[in-house]
Amino acid sequence: SKAAGRNTSTWFEAGMEQRVAARAALEADLRQALGEGQFELHYQPQCDLRRQMTGAEALLRWRHPQRGMVPPGEFIALTEETGIIIPLGSWVLRTACAQLARWADDARTAQLRMAVNVSAQQFHRPDFVEQVLAALAETGARADRLKLELTESLLLKDVEATIARMELLRTEGVGFSLDDFGTGYSSLSYLHRLPLEQLKIDRSFVWDADSGRHGKAIVHTIAGLGKALRIEVMAEGVETEAQLELIREGGCHLFQGYLYSRPLPPDALQAFIEQASLA
Ligand code: C2E
Ligand code: CA
Ligand code: CA
Ligand code: CA
Repeated sequence: SKAAGRNTSTWFEAGMEQRVAARAALEADLRQALGEGQFELHYQPQCDLRRQMTGAEALLRWRHPQRGMVPPGEFIALTEETGIIIPLGSWVLRTACAQLARWADDARTAQLRMAVNVSAQQFHRPDFVEQVLAALAETGARADRLKLELTESLLLKDVEATIARMELLRTEGVGFSLDDFGTGYSSLSYLHRLPLEQLKIDRSFVWDADSGRHGKAIVHTIAGLGKALRIEVMAEGVETEAQLELIREGGCHLFQGYLYSRPLPPDALQAFIEQASLA
């Protein structure tokens, strides 16, 4: 009936209003969170096929006073839309570099690499290179132990300028990994021109490989591409021994995933490293 239709639409609009209000509240909370130190970095260990730890990826967490631990999937996009990612991303870089500098003090951890995710908004800022170099200088971390994870869409924005910016950091020793590789637009035409040291196979392919679909062929193809271009290849999201076997068969030598370790807060990471080096 007409009345029911009207009710439905009113109800729907109320839902919209609630979503807009929730978003505004989230934005206000995010602005406050940075000032109040509610963000944390957790670190997910990465390793080779013999399960020797090679480094870790820094992953952002938000310890919300009421909601508890909030994963980045629930707030990163909004920080990007609102520009909050600029100060937040700078905090991430400095915090990850500080951890990296602490690793340098211990012979067991001095070789480890730190991978840091970088948003397009951060990367395309004119002062991005300075920001990275400042984070390294402030903390005393070595540039050649830092690896920045970029996405395909970020690289597509302005290829020439992007390559120039990457080359600048590359000269200082900073490495680059192409994250979520295979999920974005095909970048094969300029891939060989990018100063990349790593391709990261998206976990969707690792999972597809396990279920016997095209993922297995994709893992093979990306590993072969990496070999041809002399770029190392890392698989992410490896959860099972069967998945590990498939990426090994595919020719991929590095991985990260729950099978080796979940992302860990700094003290648990330290315990993990100590236990790993005893083994
Ligand atoms: P990503 O860069 O692809 O990071 C890998 C994600 O996969 C992480 O989710 C990690 O916890 C999860 N993961 C790792 N191994 C496994 C596994 O074996 N199984 C499953 N199911 N998941 C696994 P997380 O921490 O929720 O991060 C989600 C995304 O948020 C990241 O995806 C990245 O795009 C973004 N992100 C995280 N930290 C930062 C940051 O500091 N800056 C920026 N710009 N983005 C970040
Ligand atoms: Ca990543
Ligand atoms: Ca990824
Ligand atoms: Ca991803």
